[in-house]
Amino acid sequence: MTKTVKKIGLLTSGGDAPGMNAAIRAVVRTCVYHNIECIGIYRGYQGMIEGDFETMDARSVNNIINRGGTILKSARSSEFRTKEGRQKAYQHLKNAGVDAFVVIGGDGSFTGAMIFNEEFDFPVMGIPGTIDNDIYGTTFTLGYDTALNTVVEAIDKIRDTASSHNRLFFVEVMGRDAGDIALNAGIGAGAEEILIPEEDLGLERLLESLESSRKRGKTSSIVVVAEGDKTAGKSVFELKEYVNENLPDYDVRVSVLGHMQRGGSPSCYDRVLASRMGVKAVETLLDGKSTYMVGVACDKMILTPLEDAVKGKSEIDQELLRVSDIVTI
Ligand code: ATP
Repeated sequence: MTKTVKKIGLLTSGGDAPGMNAAIRAVVRTCVYHNIECIGIYRGYQGMIEGDFETMDARSVNNIINRGGTILKSARSSEFRTKEGRQKAYQHLKNAGVDAFVVIGGDGSFTGAMIFNEEFDFPVMGIPGTIDNDIYGTTFTLGYDTALNTVVEAIDKIRDTASSHNRLFFVEVMGRDAGDIALNAGIGAGAEEILIPEEDLGLERLLESLESSRKRGKTSSIVVVAEGDKTAGKSVFELKEYVNENLPDYDVRVSVLGHMQRGGSPSCYDRVLASRMGVKAVETLLDGKSTYMVGVACDKMILTPLEDAVKGKSEIDQELLRVSDIVTI
């Protein structure tokens, strides 16, 4: 039976990503637009368990569309993984009159939402917020476009110093399981090589490629390495050592970009995507549907069952791989 939704809870969970605030703003304002209430839940599922709630109105989300991070804070909650923890969370939602929630997060957050829905027949919706772009059911996740721009800007700066000193830089970027950031930022920043978890270039080919770059007159080189790259099972620092030993003429350096990739003001694309996702998530609940993730494909908003979003594997774009092989010559 379809439940009428009158009060929606909203939380951000897992790692933060630029665009989360823009999505919060959109969810709150869509609730206001449809004359229903919105309750902000602080610190992800942990705040749900503790009843850390606040009523939100159109004005409580003023001036946040341009801000990175999340005004609702995020957290990882081991207690929510237990039945007792989820029971406490349910009780708080019930006491506050909340009859559905929207969670902005990654696949762990969606798994929690799915289990909660099964246990309490509670309507839930997911908005994919993670810079890694590793979620099935959407071409882009919130924060990914911003992170790409941040990484490209950083690599451009590193290239300035690389070319001044004829250096080779290994630049490690985020992406434990997915090479999307490395591949796209690598192409965008004109990297000479891109190492991603989805394919193992192998050490021989890496050396060959660096050698042939030099023979073709390149005086500096940038190799973008995704955090989860498994080339010969070596870390970025071990790769540096290997190249140092085998190509002693190269002056090799490593730069790990780290958490700066998660921060910063969201790009226009992320702000617009967040706005569209927020509206779609609330209106899907109001249509009586539940347990979907909103996503974008061919620039249209789409819905994917949360279960598929969690179980499906987001694949690397083969055409982009080919483009990168060609343009890095
Ligand atoms: P990111 O991609 O940034 O890591 P995520 O949403 O995948 O984001 P997780 O830490 O995996 O981040 O999950 C966030 C929270 O979701 C967990 O701290 C936990 O509270 C809840 N969660 C994850 N998996 C489960 C599960 N199997 N059962 C119940 N809750 C879960």
